[in-house]
Amino acid sequence: MTPGVRPLIAGNWKMHGTLAEATALAQGVAAGAGGAAELLVCPSFPHLSAVKMAMAGSAIGLGAQDCHAKPKGAHTGDVSAAMLKDVGASHVILGHSERRADHGESDAEVKAKTEAALAEGLTPVVCVGESEAQRLAGEAEAVVAGQLGGSLPEGFARAGGVVAYEPVWAIGTGRTPTEEDVAAMHARIRAELVRAFGPAGEGLRILYGGSVKPGNAKAILALPHVDGALVGGASLVAADFLAIAAAV
Ligand code: PGA
Repeated sequence: MTPGVRPLIAGNWKMHGTLAEATALAQGVAAGAGGAAELLVCPSFPHLSAVKMAMAGSAIGLGAQDCHAKPKGAHTGDVSAAMLKDVGASHVILGHSERRADHGESDAEVKAKTEAALAEGLTPVVCVGESEAQRLAGEAEAVVAGQLGGSLPEGFARAGGVVAYEPVWAIGTGRTPTEEDVAAMHARIRAELVRAFGPAGEGLRILYGGSVKPGNAKAILALPHVDGALVGGASLVAADFLAIAAAV
């Protein structure tokens, strides 16, 4: 944790659930919310409005999982940052490794999307992380530094943007890096943020993501420069998500 920075526990619901299941999950999270951490849930596009209503009166943030770089236009199947804002989103996840892999999103595209999110007043949660081959080759820190350099626009720090470090090989696998490796990477990310943005980079949140569970959350969240978690699988069970939040 970074002193003076309120941790953020974010749930990435990915492409899961029915409308009824998403609503029930949101109600379950809202019913148990409290404690030191800020909470954020990121359902799929069709569930955003219903989840917003299900959490009405709570302080839980609503995030989407992507947005288009353009404000509007002939882009069939895409969703603009303004549309997300309009249905009550406060955050948007950008550059998740699944989008980088499934949709070939480059750092430049992630940067353009992040600019679009900032223009609408959404808080971007920009994801970075190395593949297993890159880690084994000793390139993990250089890869992540390169992704940060290419993906974060100038206004990122002013708007309180969030970085999520998610080693690709740890997502949905039950495997996590060692605590030493997480701490080293988060220290490197902090250094890159300060280099890019000056003192404002000191207070930006750096989340860890990749197989965070109730059982390992406490140890991960206690590491320096780990200011919260981006949780996939475990965020689909309200009790598990809340247990992770309680580990802050
Ligand atoms: P996981 O996913 O917690 O299921 O590993 C994390 C993520 O992809 O954000």
